[in-house]
Amino acid sequence: MAEISLQNVVKRYGKTEVVHGINLDIAHNEFVVLVGPSGCGKSTTLRMIAGLEDITDGSVSIGSEVVNDLPPRKRNISMVFQNYALYPHMSVRENLGFGLKIAKQSEAEITQRVNEAADILGLDELMDRTPAELSGGQRQRVAMGRAIVRHPEAFLFDEPLSNLDAKLRVQMRTEIKKLHQTVKTTVVYVTHDQVEAMTLADRIVVMKDGYIEQVGTPMQVFNHP
Ligand code: ADP
Ligand code: ADP
Repeated sequence: MAEISLQNVVKRYGKTEVVHGINLDIAHNEFVVLVGPSGCGKSTTLRMIAGLEDITDGSVSIGSEVVNDLPPRKRNISMVFQNYALYPHMSVRENLGFGLKIAKQSEAEITQRVNEAADILGLDELMDRTPAELSGGQRQRVAMGRAIVRHPEAFLFDEPLSNLDAKLRVQMRTEIKKLHQTVKTTVVYVTHDQVEAMTLADRIVVMKDGYIEQVGTPMQVFNHP
């Protein structure tokens, strides 16, 4: 049983079709990376899984539920964006807990989950800082923390490292890999960076012009002509 399943998913903007009926099954705990040139439909596909874009045709399932008509917050997934979207006036601790507070979780539950996320991401020393007092990599970790505290079924990443310098990118790749191993979760990750795809993916999905061109392990995709 696939954790995330796309069946004949189509996306049109007006008359222009940008995703042409793709099929993809993603297994529980699998790390899947969508790669391909700019404009091939990676981000649109991810956003349709997240519910941030309506699908024009076909079907998206998460768990065993068809989610076509569910809003993002009801899909039990967390999206991590490249622009960190942290609340500037809140501390790291408040940033981590805010979503749970809105969802009316108890104080005890919020504290427990926030501390757990801080522990996983090594944020303990930074909890009282505001985003302005953090480095780029630290902000990205807080953004991941905000996703972790929700205990989602799956994490969706849209080019999360593209704003970081080369050294930090390598460091954050390691963090994300560690996160996947620690939290044991399903990940769908969009990037145009082949090295990122190689190092992170269990399975790579190569997109081209709104189609899935190839699916395979990093070895299969990058080592064969
Ligand atoms: P990628 O993530 O692979 O760079 P996208 O999924 O962002 O590609 O875009 C796929 C195609 O859809 C592109 O041709 C893009 O211009 C088009 N597109 C994306 N968003 C919109 C939109 N809101 N309205 C019209 N066209 C869009
Ligand atoms: P980046 O390379 O991502 O821009 P910075 O040069 O901004 O990182 O920060 C380097 C280090 O200094 C980081 O560990 C960060 O936590 C710390 N730092 C940056 N700004 C502040 C600040 N206003 N107060 C305390 N520490 C800071």
